[in-house]
Amino acid sequence: MRKRVFIDAGHNPTGTFNTGAAANGITEQDVVFDVALEMGRLLEGDFDVKLSRPTKETVLGMNNVSAINARWQMANEWLADIFISIHVNAGSGTGFETFFFDAGPANTRSVQSNALSRAITDNFIKATGLRDRGVKPDTRTNLGAIGVLRQTTMPATLVELAFIDSPRANPDVGLLMHFRNEMAEALAKGVYAYFGMEMGDDDTTISPSTETTPNTESEPETPTRQVFNTIQEVPDWARPTIEKLVAAEALQGNGGGNLDLCKVMLRVFTVLDMMGVFNREYESGSYAGYTSNTADTTDDSTDQPTRLIPEPTRPPPITPQALTTSQPQTPIPRPHNQDEWSLTDFEMEALCKMVWAEARGEDDHGQRLVVHVILNRMADPTFPNKLLEVLFQRNAFSPVRDGAFNRATPDEGIRRNVLLALSEPDQARGATFFRTIKGADDVPEGKWSHERNLTRLLDYGKHRFYR
Ligand SMILES: [Zn+2]
Repeated sequence: MRKRVFIDAGHNPTGTFNTGAAANGITEQDVVFDVALEMGRLLEGDFDVKLSRPTKETVLGMNNVSAINARWQMANEWLADIFISIHVNAGSGTGFETFFFDAGPANTRSVQSNALSRAITDNFIKATGLRDRGVKPDTRTNLGAIGVLRQTTMPATLVELAFIDSPRANPDVGLLMHFRNEMAEALAKGVYAYFGMEMGDDDTTISPSTETTPNTESEPETPTRQVFNTIQEVPDWARPTIEKLVAAEALQGNGGGNLDLCKVMLRVFTVLDMMGVFNREYESGSYAGYTSNTADTTDDSTDQPTRLIPEPTRPPPITPQALTTSQPQTPIPRPHNQDEWSLTDFEMEALCKMVWAEARGEDDHGQRLVVHVILNRMADPTFPNKLLEVLFQRNAFSPVRDGAFNRATPDEGIRRNVLLALSEPDQARGATFFRTIKGADDVPEGKWSHERNLTRLLDYGKHRFYR
């Protein structure tokens, strides 16, 4: 008989009550909804899954208290086998933690809840490399402070994915922004592990190479993650970043002398490095927009249990001088074949995702034009010269800001067009900008701030190109 997994996206939608924390331009309720939905999708092949908020618009309860009560009541009525409430942490720390209701070692549900929390934590830390803040008993009062853990009747855990207002030197915010599907996958693996089952391979969001036509004759692959323990084992594309972080003692491994990093984590660090995250020193108070949530997981107190745990001492800041790479001042001749671009799998995937987000409604030529604009930026000395730096440059591409990039699911057509664009001469007449001129998300005439400084080159599909 299939087990019943209840997944709770821990807050109500923006604009209602019982919303979550917000900082760095992201909100807890959006992150946990995306993660819960993807986690459900990954589990539904082998489990019966119920989401507390099946749609982004679902509002639970009438106020802060009933919003929390609705969650455990739903799970109890459905007779769920396990309950997972997903949250995002706040308070400028770093890392992942879980909570369970601790009624002592004689209480079966507590023991099982502890085991569930442990299984999820182990898998999450292994996949993301985030700091393990531990599996924490909710013993703040005799009754426990977290309503959904105290009132549920099945093994239950509450996870705090990462810190939404984390200092920039930590991977937390980048994970919450760009790696929601990967976090969902790690949580799902923990559920499989708790039930002694193994999760099938569903890695399609990570690498294009896994999307080849399935060979029905071959036996199912066991999803083993390669672990990189020394700098020498780290692949070339990630090594400069990892060397930098180890040298700065920001990355200290698992305590046993091993780096203990998986490929996903290498990608996370590399992307964050490309974004310049590790070049900034943390200034306290520089994270505008942080609002503490009204009544997070506690239904009988405004005090969050996480606040009681002392913060560890911060690793020394990385000095900007050591990390800043100088920008070339002379134009870089733009090569016209893929080998010369030599993009990593991850860069290819990021490029395909951007084309999906910007031009999935365009025809083949229209999609390739977007690739050419990106390549032209890489070749233009006024823009960064690395692909990921171009894609994630602040305020450069709206899909990065509005989340469409994260949701992107590039199809074979897009992948073909990206490969073709990489091997053909520039078709965009040197364009380094484009904007949407038709359709729902067009920019009204005269409202595009860049326009007065640019030369208009061509219109194609819904896009107008400039340099
Ligand atoms: Zn929360």
